[in-house]
Amino acid sequence: MTEPALPPALALVTGASRGIGRAIAVELATTGLHVAVNYKSNEAAARETLARIQAGGGSGELCPFDVADEAAAEAALASLLSRHERVEVLVNNAGVVADNLFVMMPAADWRKVTDTSLGGFFNVTKPVVQKMIPNKRGSVVTISSVSGLVGNRGQTNYAAAKAGLMGATRALAAEVARIGIRVNVVAPGIIDTDMTRELPLDQLKKLVPMARTGKPEEVARVVRFLCSDDASYITGQVISVNGGMV
Ligand code: NAP
Repeated sequence: MTEPALPPALALVTGASRGIGRAIAVELATTGLHVAVNYKSNEAAARETLARIQAGGGSGELCPFDVADEAAAEAALASLLSRHERVEVLVNNAGVVADNLFVMMPAADWRKVTDTSLGGFFNVTKPVVQKMIPNKRGSVVTISSVSGLVGNRGQTNYAAAKAGLMGATRALAAEVARIGIRVNVVAPGIIDTDMTRELPLDQLKKLVPMARTGKPEEVARVVRFLCSDDASYITGQVISVNGGMV
């Protein structure tokens, strides 16, 4: 008698309605994972992500909540995780910028950026890793930035948050390595998304040895690799995807 097929394992991608997160969600779905498409407010864009997943033969569901809101994240994740036994992948991708020179920066902009990246890491990663532990398997990938490595002018809030994610990743990786859970960071350079649309890209390309911006899919393929068994001995690492910037 053949065993009944297991339902697909779950991958949660935060900030998957647009940009890099959308590309990651679509890429992971091609590996057979059921993808939870998190977003904050842009439902139409999130539905487009889901449509692309399904057009590629994959499966997924929408999972809206603000990663910076502890109570909202707790409620949404309790519901999601109760419906999926095998949670194999978490991609902490949601992030925002609010650039300003440090001496001019409103406290609200400091908090908005750090609450989304660092607060989001805590609010989402903790319940997901708790769920991964009994299965002794899982991969967490967090999207940081070249900004967290070099510190750009006007981005003290963003650089602090993105550097903090690298520290949190290394510490968590050390805590859960023996259980079979891997935790890594991907640090993109300048990628073509809504976040960079307003920037002087012709100027910025001069900072890139490859003399071009990156595509969301070029980040997504690295995330897919880190989530796969091909990366089974990689944990606690920061992988740059930046055309040679640092
Ligand atoms: P993007 O195009 O602006 O998209 C941001 C995504 O994050 C959207 O899906 C948005 O949802 C979601 N989001 C924002 N705040 C959220 C919150 N509080 N809770 C849940 N979701 C939230 O950004 P991107 O360029 O793809 O960036 C994705 C990640 O890569 C970010 O962490 C960013 O810092 C990092 N990164 C980007 C670049 C780059 O050059 N683009 C470079 C280095 C690192 P809604 O659609 O609902 O607003």
